[in-house]
Amino acid sequence: MPATVIDGKSLAASLRATLKRTVDALAARGVRPGLAAILAGDDPASRVYVRNKARACAETGVHSEVHEFAQEVCENALLERIARLNADRAVHGILVQLPLPRQLDAGRLLAALAPAKDVDGFHAANLGLLLQGRPGVVPGTPAGVMRLLEHAGVPLAGRHAVIVGRSNIVGKPLALLLLQKDATVTICHSKTADLACVTRQADILVAAAGRPKLIGAAMVKAGACVIDVGVNRLADGKIAGDVDFNAVKEVAGWITPVPGGVGPMTVAMLIVNTVRAAELSIA
Ligand code: NAD
Repeated sequence: MPATVIDGKSLAASLRATLKRTVDALAARGVRPGLAAILAGDDPASRVYVRNKARACAETGVHSEVHEFAQEVCENALLERIARLNADRAVHGILVQLPLPRQLDAGRLLAALAPAKDVDGFHAANLGLLLQGRPGVVPGTPAGVMRLLEHAGVPLAGRHAVIVGRSNIVGKPLALLLLQKDATVTICHSKTADLACVTRQADILVAAAGRPKLIGAAMVKAGACVIDVGVNRLADGKIAGDVDFNAVKEVAGWITPVPGGVGPMTVAMLIVNTVRAAELSIA
């Protein structure tokens, strides 16, 4: 039997509708959540991502502003803007759209964000809280993956979760969230020997490598839940994930599509984090 397709697009839409009600309730108390995006350079994908985030803000009633800088911008100009936004009471969340132009040090810029406004959850303070299992801001993509798993009713406790990819923004934080739910977690990466041997053991397999069709049907255990985080632009301009969707859906128990899976959830969770930051600012 083919896999159940987990529909991230509709789950994200219902989450945005819920968020709109929370935002309206906050507005009645005189607070409008606000998100500032810093966009430096002319990476076309970054422009699309920032536009999608602004659209989700508009739909949920969140104030949004985009702070654009030229490709050649110097780090001090961005640090000054971050300091100003940190102090701006109308701004509850700040995100620095990655990747940044080469002359800029992403680590230094992220460290300059007020942790309470770091709605991407990439600041070391928030990643540290996540490591310790304490409340903080959780990065949107791994948080979105957890919501998708919960929504689909995928059992996690005692199950083997295998994540392909060890980035600070996806693989590592997701491993911590799955551990919190009592999964047994393995992280694979580009130096993993015999990747297929590991992925075939997964009850939950998450692909976050940025390699189209990396995960084929022979790498998936029958009935496993396969979550595709990958976003790859193919030569024909189409977007594809890391999973060979048509082949794997015949083997897996659940699968997420690309587009329409993890991507919309990432954006929705960013709004969740922004609204939460606004709530905490008046708590
Ligand atoms: P990254 O480049 O920082 O990390 C990629 C990871 O994959 C690395 O740890 C690397 O070791 C591993 N890897 C690469 N090739 C591999 C291989 N052949 N076998 C095993 N492991 C391999 O990337 P990232 O920022 O974590 O993003 C990963 C993918 O997820 C990209 O396609 C990115 O566009 C996508 N992404 C999607 C969303 C979303 O909202 N859907 C959000 C963030 C990232």
